[in-house]
Amino acid sequence: MKKVTIIGSGLGGLATAMRLAHKGHDVTILEKHQTPGGRLNVIYKDGFKFDLGPSFMSMTYELDELFNSIGRKNPVELVELDPLYQVFFEGKEKPRLIYKNLTKLEEEFRDIEPDLAAKVDRYLTRAGQFFHDTEDKVVKSNFDSYLGYILKLTRVPLKHLPYLFKTMWSEVNKTFTSEEVKVIFSLVAFFLGSTPFQTPAIYSLLNYTEMRHNGYWKVSGGMYTLVEEIIKILAEMGVKIYYNTEIKGFNKINGRLDSVVDQNGKLWRSDIFISNSDAAAFRGQVLGRKKFREEKLDKMHWTLAPFTIYLGVKGSIDKLMHHNYFLGSNFKGYAETIFTTSISPQKPYYYVNVLSKSEKTVAPEGHENMFILCPVPDLRFKPDWSDREELAQNIIDDLSARVGFDISSNIVSKTILDPNDWAESLNLYKGSGLGLAHDIDQVGAFRPKNKDEEFSNLYYVGASTTPGTGLPMVIISSRLVSERIGNELADV
Ligand SMILES: Cc1cc2nc3c(=O)[nH]c(=O)nc-3n(C[C@H](O)[C@H](O)[C@H](O)COP(=O)(O)OP(=O)(O)OC[C@H]3O[C@@H](n4cnc5c(N)ncnc54)[C@H](O)[C@@H]3O)c2cc1C
Repeated sequence: MKKVTIIGSGLGGLATAMRLAHKGHDVTILEKHQTPGGRLNVIYKDGFKFDLGPSFMSMTYELDELFNSIGRKNPVELVELDPLYQVFFEGKEKPRLIYKNLTKLEEEFRDIEPDLAAKVDRYLTRAGQFFHDTEDKVVKSNFDSYLGYILKLTRVPLKHLPYLFKTMWSEVNKTFTSEEVKVIFSLVAFFLGSTPFQTPAIYSLLNYTEMRHNGYWKVSGGMYTLVEEIIKILAEMGVKIYYNTEIKGFNKINGRLDSVVDQNGKLWRSDIFISNSDAAAFRGQVLGRKKFREEKLDKMHWTLAPFTIYLGVKGSIDKLMHHNYFLGSNFKGYAETIFTTSISPQKPYYYVNVLSKSEKTVAPEGHENMFILCPVPDLRFKPDWSDREELAQNIIDDLSARVGFDISSNIVSKTILDPNDWAESLNLYKGSGLGLAHDIDQVGAFRPKNKDEEFSNLYYVGASTTPGTGLPMVIISSRLVSERIGNELADV
């Protein structure tokens, strides 16, 4: 049995704690924030329960695997979203509903895209082949060297090679005729930290995971129920969690990490350490590694920052569903400038989640619980968010007009978080919401590794190490790091 210390209680940290405690290790978690969950967190305010960040998940079998690996049944109830979401295009009264069922999808777009079902079927079949040909070889593997990674890549069937050299936009452009369908199929590129005009076509595998493979799911009671259930299990397993404890420094002995040091100078000793703090930023900011100093980190590609608004609203907004996207016009122009602009978007694109549509417990009776997410440039490009109230009002006014409901006059609870808040409260590098982007030179063996380069007893888990960002990916990350630790302990 080893003493294991995990720095951070994001889903990656919590999942790793469960796996290692189940193996009999003595696990402690040190968390900077006052509550567990990291980005998968919660705001209780004015009688509302708002999910802080994630509002859905895909690849839910990864969650089942996590609980099965510790001999338990998944304690949360998952509900599939059907339709997946609706998309409002600027100037169009009627939103488009996005269904997994291709017959229904074809019917929805009959006026603008002939033979949609056959086209989507072809597109998803191709993306699905790529997903299944790479899932185990690339996504779910630990790599020890660039060579090992390249060798694994050579086992991916050659027919997928053109996918690497084409952009996602060129794929959708070739497949569909209507601009609206092209835009809808290319939105997923933003989740990866890129635009469809830059990201390689391989990432159409995300269309496959959302539209065919597993779909989108929400957690009954709100996403945070997942964290609450995990915390109960960790308590039963004897895992200790210390909140308001930020690791700022370290001590080393003979090539090993001896202790980490919190903001009050307290030393935390352990046999094994795992950082769930951002794998790139932690190396630079806490360990002082040259390869990850600020100038180097700033040159890496990061995903967009979140600008989020949590509203409690009196009344019922009938035009909204659980999951809604509001898009402007000039998609290409928006995509090309949004990552690097230094001004708040005048015509923002945003996402609205209305949890109260399906969960009665998250809002007082007769009220809606709304979460609005507007992806914005990170703090490298726009450090000053003193215009946050104007941006929030701009979004609320736009939303009110598009759904025909006066939101401003009915607000009973309002919280705004800008990229500075996200950066400060959870140590997200320059406020980037999903961590490091997924360009070809930032995935696989090129992503910050889950094993430290210098300290033999330091490991990493979470969105900016392998395999990548999003709830299912950080669960896979916890499996990969736990396997690595298990293998290394067996070798001793
Ligand atoms: C607004 C938003 C919406 C999202 N929506 C979705 C979605 O719908 N579906 C989906 O699958 N994914 C979504 N994501 C992505 C998903 O939330 C993340 O990929 C995932 O939660 C990351 O988990 P993690 O374990 O890597 O780390 P985090 O959640 O970032 O947790 C890391 C923890 O470490 C703590 N920490 C950091 N540094 C230190 C330190 N030095 N000392 C002590 N503690 C420290 C932090 O406080 C934090 O609690 C969303 C993200 C955001 C921001």
